[in-house]
Formats: sequence, C-alpha cells, structure tokens
Amino acid sequence: MKLLVVEDEAITADYLRQGLGEAGFVVDLARTGLDGHHQAMTGDHDLLILDVMLPDVDGWRILKALRDAGRQTPVLFLTARDGVEDRVKGLEAGADDYLVKPFAFSELLARVRTLLRRGATAPLAERLEVADLVVDVPRRRATRAGRRLNLTAKEFALLELLARRRGEVLPRSLIASQVWDINFDSDSNAIDVAIRRLRAKVDEDFEPKLIQTVRGMGYMLDLPDAE
Ligand code: CA
Repeated sequence: MKLLVVEDEAITADYLRQGLGEAGFVVDLARTGLDGHHQAMTGDHDLLILDVMLPDVDGWRILKALRDAGRQTPVLFLTARDGVEDRVKGLEAGADDYLVKPFAFSELLARVRTLLRRGATAPLAERLEVADLVVDVPRRRATRAGRRLNLTAKEFALLELLARRRGEVLPRSLIASQVWDINFDSDSNAIDVAIRRLRAKVDEDFEPKLIQTVRGMGYMLDLPDAE
C-alpha cells in the first residue's frame, strides 16, 4: 500500500514518514503544496494524507483538483485544533476523514487502515458474530445466545463499530468520531457512559464478557484471552 503525505512542517512530515514506513506502508512525501498537487494528480497512491495549511497551494485546492479530475483516492486531512469550519468544509469538499493536530500516531494509523479498508472491494459483512453475540446489520438487531438485545440506535452503532473492528483497541476519540458527530468532545466521559450502558445489555447476563476496557487506550470487543 502506497501513501502520499503532503505536509510542509518538517518534524511532522518526517515523523509520519517514519511511523507509516515502520507500519509497512510505502510513503511518498511532498513538502510543498505544489509538489503535493503534482504527485496527487499523477501518482498511484492508495491514500492521501493532506495537511490543510500549506504555504503555496493549500490542501483545499489539492483536494478539489483531485476530485474535479475524478480521482477517488481516499483523503485524510490534517487540520488545526480550532478549525471546526475547516473540518466541515473539508468533508464537504470530498475529504473522507480528518484528524486534528496534534494527534497520536496510533490514531492516525487506525484512521488510515479504516479508510483503506473502506476503499477495498470486499463488501462489509452484514452479519457480525463474536461468540454467541450476533449483530445483524441490515435489520439493526443484535442478539446474545439467541436473546434480543434492546439497544438504542447509538448503542447499536457503537456495538456494530466494536464488532466490525473485533480485536482492535479503539481509542475514545475514534469511537466519538465514528458514532457521534464530528464535533464531539472526545475528552468527555460520554463514551465511558455509553460503553457502560452497552455493557449492561451485552455482557451483564452473559458469559464470556466481550467488551473489554484497555486501560489508558480505549475499548475492544473480543473473546477474553485464555487464562
Ligand atoms: Ca502545515
């Protein structure tokens, strides 16, 4: 998988190139908007990571040029902490996801993998099963041991996300952005409250317990490790 990173800040650019390289990606780097524009329009990248604030051609223009040319390469764009309008503008302009600086590398990697998976040709599973938990996506129903779980729409979305990404630790910020709207304050304890409610329905009366807390990192749905 080949990624293009367009980022003018040397420290961030080098950090991304190194981290993504270590994660097994081939990384092309553009340090100016002009170079980024050129590489985005002519390259064969599977995904673009695009900084919005560039000194010459900004991220918007690169994204617009790309979409105007009919190129559907997934775009993850990087934006400033206070740029709520930027984020909305970016999503409207055809970006697939955004990340607010500064970000944890693990989160960037999770977003990159999600976007790449989304772009893959394999259809998303419609029925997710973990032990005796069944999440029936089209019918918006979940059961454990054949018993219907009475979930709200948000709880179902949360469970679906956890089940789709089974075995993956999902940071709160990622859960917030995927299940709630994009301006959700990920420092809020609302995620923990939602998980607690979901857990009461999914795990309280059943064994094994599937929703796991990974301290300091987030939440994961999977069978517990064998003792
Ligand atoms: Ca920049």
